[in-house]
Amino acid sequence: MTHTADVLIVGGSVAAVRAAEAITRHAPELSVTLASDDPHLPYERPPLSKIALTDSLDLAELTYPSVAGLREHGVRFELNTRVTNLDVTSRRVGTSGGDIDYGAVVLAIGCEPILPPMFRDLPNVFVLRRFGDAADLRAAVSDRSRSVAVIGAGFIGGEFAATLAKDGRDVTIVDLAERPLGRFGDLVAAEYAALHRDRGVTLELGDGVVGVEDSVDARVLRLASGRTVPADVILVGIGVRPATQWLEPSGLTLGNGILCDATLRAADRVFAAGDVVQWPNGRFDATMRIEHWTNAAEHGRVAGINAANTVSDLPSIECATVPYFWSDQHGVRIQFAGFLTGSEEVVESREDGGSLFVYRKGDTVTGVIAFERRAEFVKLRALLRRPTLWKAVQPMLPAGAVSM
Ligand SMILES: Cc1cc2nc3c(=O)[nH]c(=O)nc-3n(C[C@H](O)[C@H](O)[C@H](O)COP(=O)(O)OP(=O)(O)OC[C@H]3O[C@@H](n4cnc5c(N)ncnc54)[C@H](O)[C@@H]3O)c2cc1C
Repeated sequence: MTHTADVLIVGGSVAAVRAAEAITRHAPELSVTLASDDPHLPYERPPLSKIALTDSLDLAELTYPSVAGLREHGVRFELNTRVTNLDVTSRRVGTSGGDIDYGAVVLAIGCEPILPPMFRDLPNVFVLRRFGDAADLRAAVSDRSRSVAVIGAGFIGGEFAATLAKDGRDVTIVDLAERPLGRFGDLVAAEYAALHRDRGVTLELGDGVVGVEDSVDARVLRLASGRTVPADVILVGIGVRPATQWLEPSGLTLGNGILCDATLRAADRVFAAGDVVQWPNGRFDATMRIEHWTNAAEHGRVAGINAANTVSDLPSIECATVPYFWSDQHGVRIQFAGFLTGSEEVVESREDGGSLFVYRKGDTVTGVIAFERRAEFVKLRALLRRPTLWKAVQPMLPAGAVSM
């Protein structure tokens, strides 16, 4: 059966919810449908890798509080509904539950985890993106006799390893890279590795998995170095890719995600938002794709307004943001704001209360990462909303900050 929505939102996570909120506030007269292939109403993903193993995973608590108001407003939630094709000429999508005609569409379809063939179809191997993944993973590790290995030393792997360590469990993180979080430079990589090692997490760095071997009552990962890692349960956290395969015949420009302009417009009456978007970010004069919650939320807001404006023949607004993320590991909050290209000079400041790393390119500050040091981080993040000169930041750093 076909139905019609003034604005159709494809996706059921933060970018989708923020788009629905923006449309209902900005143009309450428009009808809105949200189609998501997840069986659940939109919920927060960041807690899925952080909630202590001793606390329960409560879907109702994770569900976005605004969802109730959106439903009351009349937003139609089509859950368990996979959108399978987009026809930009007839303004229609095909879904597993029938066709939907739209006045404008927001594609907030995010990313899907990468699972190399070596791990597919093996028991007790998990990725961590959705509520169902988290529930299955936690059930698997609840048997304390099972060993756990995490592949990938990024944020999701690091956070989950930290929850295991907090529960007194042995866990090994394996990563091909010698330096975890290497894109932030050697100093941050060393700080991050020390954070994990000091809390009892075993790190196998600069080593790749070449096989998964079973014996009678245990399973191990075989590494390229010949070493083995106990791995009855395996979390693969090696990254994600934009969930755009179904859009290939649509005529949208796809590359590293959906290519959009500065207003997040991908084609006539088609906008995109969140992790899936590659767009020119005017704040840094650079084209980027960002995989963080705050960016997805801001994209959702802008794409929602622009989709509503398009239906009403109003002009679009641009989306310029300062990329930001946080991560909680071993009781330490790690936060980053800015945009790095890899050629920055790093100025470090270490104190008992944590570490701060400021990135500069010539006279300009391009980013900051903090391990704790929350108050200073907040000030530096606020400054970064506008192009920021080093001389404005230098007095804020404690004496003894060292340039590397
Ligand atoms: C475990 C975990 C912890 C995280 N922790 C942090 C953190 O601490 N800090 C931080 O900044 N970021 C964190 N992130 C990242 C953050 O959650 C993402 O940046 C954010 O979820 C991206 O939102 P999104 O709406 O763009 O896409 P996604 O969250 O990927 O959602 C995409 C949605 O689209 C739906 N969908 C996809 N394709 C289709 C289709 N064809 N038809 C219908 N529906 C479809 C999916 O079901 C899903 O609902 C974390 C992510 C995870 C998974």
